Amino acid sequence: MEVLKRDQNMIPKPKRVVDKKAIEEARKPYCELCGCRDGVQVHHIKSKGSGGGDTPENLISLCWVCHRKVHDGLIKRETLRRGENEI
Ligand SMILES: [Zn+2]
Ligand SMILES: [Zn+2]
Repeated sequence: MEVLKRDQNMIPKPKRVVDKKAIEEARKPYCELCGCRDGVQVHHIKSKGSGGGDTPENLISLCWVCHRKVHDGLIKRETLRRGENEI
């Protein structure tokens, strides 16, 4: 049972839907942390579950290595944020 009946009359929630345009605009051909060009992916600095959105400030291009480190907690979120929190 994937769809609950009571949901049928409701406006479908944009659950996990990604704003592709915003992401394509944020996408860079290189990693913004190390400059590497291997397997660059756009990462949400603040996860959608935490209230983050598909805004340029919340998106960063990371190579797969840095991306994995971020998800493993080896790179702090503060490190990713540009402009706002300069250390
Ligand atoms: Zn990198
Ligand atoms: Zn990510």
